[in-house]
Amino acid sequence: LKDEVNKMERLSLVGQMAASITHEIRNPMAVIRGFVQLLNERSTSEQNSYFHIILQELDRANGIINDFLSLAQNRIVEKNVSDLHSLLEDLLPLLQADANMRGQQIELSLCEQLDPLELNVKEIKQLVLNLARNGMEAMDDKGVLRIETHNLPDRIELRVTDNGVGIPPEKLERLFEPFYTTKTNGTGLGLALCLSIMERHNGKIHVVSKIGEGTTFIVTFCKPDCQCW
Ligand code: ADP
Ligand code: MG
Repeated sequence: LKDEVNKMERLSLVGQMAASITHEIRNPMAVIRGFVQLLNERSTSEQNSYFHIILQELDRANGIINDFLSLAQNRIVEKNVSDLHSLLEDLLPLLQADANMRGQQIELSLCEQLDPLELNVKEIKQLVLNLARNGMEAMDDKGVLRIETHNLPDRIELRVTDNGVGIPPEKLERLFEPFYTTKTNGTGLGLALCLSIMERHNGKIHVVSKIGEGTTFIVTFCKPDCQCW
């Protein structure tokens, strides 16, 4: 319980900070992006490659700010009766493009039939993206990322499995902490955001991993009489 309280306090402090810096950072960045884009259109091909990097890095910085905000605001989000399968199919082209660039494969394996779920589609897309990106980043160019759904009597499971490096047992419990990262370019916000999204979706998220074999993130959506708690 004490941990829970600490976490709440930490999140609300972060929330206040986040709210106050949102516009201050986003607006100038949007202006910079606009002008860089303009310069890019008029540049030589050598300069082009520099502008490309500038734009990419700006977008990355923007992504970090967005993740940080969604995590920090921890707000009550609107949920609608939605179809998880069409959500996943919508995401597939984006994931496939990402995987292609890395020489990796995506496998989507959907169960026969799924009950409709109360979802915030934007948040669940974000969650799948975060898990898929982590999976891809953990694999080499022979990697296969598998996304599955399972309709169980008391719950629906979404599983994201990679055959990447795996996670050492002593690191497992820290994964969902905000700012915990083992990557030089990481933010450590992806999984923290996934956890807070599932807290808003009457669900759970946990991980099973084996060093050298791979990792599965299991996202559970509880049905009314769910036994998984
Ligand atoms: P980031 O990706 O920015 O590092 P995340 O919160 O998404 O932050 O992930 C936190 C850490 O968890 C990663 O730095 C990595 O060490 C570990 N991790 C997450 N997903 C995987 C995975 N599929 N395989 C191996 N390690 C993972
Ligand atoms: Mg990540």
